[in-house]
Amino acid sequence: MTHRISFECRACKSRNVKQDAYAAWDEQAQDWSLANVFDADMVCDDCGEENVARIQIAPDGANLGETTE
Ligand SMILES: [Zn+2]
Repeated sequence: MTHRISFECRACKSRNVKQDAYAAWDEQAQDWSLANVFDADMVCDDCGEENVARIQIAPDGANLGETTE
């Protein structure tokens, strides 16, 4: 099976991570939609750390470790 991917702060282990992005107005939906996500510049929303790991997640939410895939 394919594991899910998440992002985890290397400093405080929080998964409350934010990524810089642009939103564009969608006239059909009458709401903002994600227009572009920038690969760099992730930041932990809990402690402000910018050193964030890409991790695999088991179905029960357990951290299976870092991955680059
Ligand atoms: Zn953090």
